[in-house]
Amino acid sequence: MTDSQTRAAVSGVEIVLDAVTKRYPGQREPAVDAVSLTIPAGQIVVLVGPSGCGKTTTMRMINRLIEPTSGTITIDGRDAAAIDPDRLRRGIGYSIQQAGLFPHMTVAKNIATVPGLMGWDRARITARTDEMLELVGLEPDTYRERYPRQLSGGQQQRVGVARALAADPPILLMDEPFGAVDPITRGLLQDELLRLQTELGKTIVFVTHDFNEAVKLGDRIAVLGTGSRILQYDTPAAVLADPADETVAGFVGSDASLKQLTLTRIRDVELDDYPTVAEDVTVEAARAALAEAGHGWVLVLDPRRRPLRRISAEQLAHARTVGEAGSALGETLSTASTLQDGLEALLNDQNATAVVTGSRGEYAGVVTIDTLVAHLSALRGDRADSDATA
Ligand code: ADP
Ligand code: MG
Repeated sequence: MTDSQTRAAVSGVEIVLDAVTKRYPGQREPAVDAVSLTIPAGQIVVLVGPSGCGKTTTMRMINRLIEPTSGTITIDGRDAAAIDPDRLRRGIGYSIQQAGLFPHMTVAKNIATVPGLMGWDRARITARTDEMLELVGLEPDTYRERYPRQLSGGQQQRVGVARALAADPPILLMDEPFGAVDPITRGLLQDELLRLQTELGKTIVFVTHDFNEAVKLGDRIAVLGTGSRILQYDTPAAVLADPADETVAGFVGSDASLKQLTLTRIRDVELDDYPTVAEDVTVEAARAALAEAGHGWVLVLDPRRRPLRRISAEQLAHARTVGEAGSALGETLSTASTLQDGLEALLNDQNATAVVTGSRGEYAGVVTIDTLVAHLSALRGDRADSDATA
């Protein structure tokens, strides 16, 4: 999805691959066969293709962990082959599956790796480490001194991203970074990455074999076949609407209208609204709010308007204070989540309603099945209209 228009600033640089080939010794076929690709500054470009098609090899040639057999890679107008590899890599964050953290080093030391190599002074490194932890949603005081084994898979992945971003590189290479975490955590990490990118404007090359992930994250996606041959390179919308060939169509899958749920962000649809109350109001005031809205439950917000719990009419009937009543919310969605995430969340919710929060965690509205149906029928309506006029 293209939302680069909404981004504050571009700090990334352009990467151009020109007829890049890699032959591993002893292999008949090249792992990467004459790939040419322009990755625009400040965008997320996703390389998606089956296992073994050459994605990792392509990516690792960009930071010269693998040297191309032939062809050139240009970064911000300079031939990468002419840049000292260590220097080159300091300008390119690299995040991989299982996070690739150093197990014997604390979280803080892991994040400080590249700034340390660059000779930053202690105070600057400490400040930057804490800033990065906050950026990826980990409380610095809690996590700074932990070791990787003391973190969940999702938390390790967050630290991996923090480490990759620590020296503020214009380029971020991410090789199946969320491949090893459970689907719910993966969705959250994807949302986080999109939120980060609206602030950072890096050039991000993201490798995955998951087409839904590619559609969700990519400003553009390159669908790759054997030898990293580019089958199609376009916006997710264009690939979904008009797959270049049978192979790409196979990736897209048969249900294009359900795929549209993956393609649409929650911020792009009209959300339903629910009654809300502050946690310090009286029970009477909450009952009045519920009665007025004609709904079965009311959402309790903290002073920064972040959703805390929900209280049903029944719970409210027995409650002494609003602060104590109600039940916990399930996972909330962000406005960067997709309608597909919304569908999954509401299917898992006893009231079939998923609460959406904005970039600061504030309540933004709810997604219900009506939200999804309205969106899909509007899409079908558009299509019918354009068919009629064609
Ligand atoms: P992907 O990341 O898409 O799974 P890779 O880039 O890892 O693909 O691998 C592409 C092809 O190159 C595969 O056939 C793989 O077996 C081969 N390959 C990868 N690394 C090496 C290597 N170091 N030596 C020989 N062959 C390799
Ligand atoms: Mg790979």
